[in-house]
Amino acid sequence: MKYFTVLISFLLLLSCSNSKNIIDRPITFNEERNELTLDYLSERYGLEQEAPTINPKIIVLHWTYIPTLQKSFDAFYDTKLPDWRPDITSASGLNVSSQFLVDQDGTIYRLMPETTMARHVIGLNHCAIGIENVGGTENTPLTQDQIDANIWLVNYLKNKYDIEYLIGHFEYTNFEHHALWLEKDEGYRTQKTDPGIDFLNAVKNATKHLNFATNPQKNTY
Ligand SMILES: [Zn+2]
Repeated sequence: MKYFTVLISFLLLLSCSNSKNIIDRPITFNEERNELTLDYLSERYGLEQEAPTINPKIIVLHWTYIPTLQKSFDAFYDTKLPDWRPDITSASGLNVSSQFLVDQDGTIYRLMPETTMARHVIGLNHCAIGIENVGGTENTPLTQDQIDANIWLVNYLKNKYDIEYLIGHFEYTNFEHHALWLEKDEGYRTQKTDPGIDFLNAVKNATKHLNFATNPQKNTY
């Protein structure tokens, strides 16, 4: 019995040393951001909600295209888009953000509650959890540590929520005719390449056992 207990303790120790942590590092989520998020849900998606919550169905992987953790964090921190002007904007003044930010060394930061809406993917924010990765520029490509951290985080999220899809940001327009797509303005699209095909495939290949659904085909008519 004693040996058994020792063995179990040893195994627990092993599994713990292999596990990752999530570090909470909140961006501003004050009354103004709350209101802007509710407005976004209403104006973009026709969803009238009491609270800016989401029902997670998709995980979207990104790169920030900003070389450092601090500058990436700063980009999401403020409530309003830095260049937003109410008189010329057609979309929303709500600043971009994501629920998670992964540094180049694989450290995982949670910027806001997992089921609060972040603005990170047109059409799908009401059901998408975003994982941003620091870097993606020529001099700061995404790293193996970030791949490992994303794999861990995807497992963590899939175990917690009823998530159907894992996609890279560049794949988001595949969902234009899917039931989950709610963006009303057909002219509101941006071209995306993040987080790169190699990074996405590495995470997808390592999470095949989670049985995510195949992406819908992009409609080309
Ligand atoms: Zn992105």
